Amino acid sequence: MTCKVKGILLKIKPTIHEERALTVLTDRLGLITVFAKANRKKNQYDQFYYGEWVLYETGGGNRLLNHFTLEEPFHELKERVDHTFLASYFAQLTLYFSKGDKQETSALLPLLLNSLYLLGKGRSPYLVKSVFELKTMQLMGYCPTLTGCGHTADAFALEDGSFLCNSCAQTVRTVPLTATVAAALTHVLNNSPAKAFSFTAPNEELVRLSRLSEAFALYHLELKAPALEMWKTVCDD
Ligand SMILES: [Zn+2]
Repeated sequence: MTCKVKGILLKIKPTIHEERALTVLTDRLGLITVFAKANRKKNQYDQFYYGEWVLYETGGGNRLLNHFTLEEPFHELKERVDHTFLASYFAQLTLYFSKGDKQETSALLPLLLNSLYLLGKGRSPYLVKSVFELKTMQLMGYCPTLTGCGHTADAFALEDGSFLCNSCAQTVRTVPLTATVAAALTHVLNNSPAKAFSFTAPNEELVRLSRLSEAFALYHLELKAPALEMWKTVCDD
């Protein structure tokens, strides 16, 4: 049986028998593994290649690559080392969710495509990273509550994503919050992946937002993200 899906290639792993195991984030099936013969000229693919995948599903439940049609290679991400590391981190964060209900991860595809596109087009990496982390967490069921304690908000609680004053924040793990960061957070979480990126803030506020969204993601996920550490060594924070 053959099937067609749209998707982006996130990981390429060699296997025995001159095959490769490709992890693809697809529009209908979420994250899937596709087996492909190595060195086949007709199917040129690389990490972050997006396009149409024609797959053959075996009786045993494996998916074999029949044909790939490239639609967007995201070449500009590979021209800058900081973009390469950040895009790899986005892939690692996405792949984290391959442990759960894989079909659910389909929701991450438009978000990832927007993030990679805007990164390549020169949008602030701190803005793109923050939106990607926050929307990914929200779409995968870890949504900050954004509820307040009734006083002026100075801190963001990592456990439930609430806004707390310094006095209420004393007994829980928090990161610092400014009014601009609070407004940006609210915008991102209340809008679709298509509109979540449409805001601006001074760079130092975007850096704060990026620290907050990262701390929230890492607090809730047991994520090893070496690409994130590599990105921090080359970004101009
Ligand atoms: Zn309070």
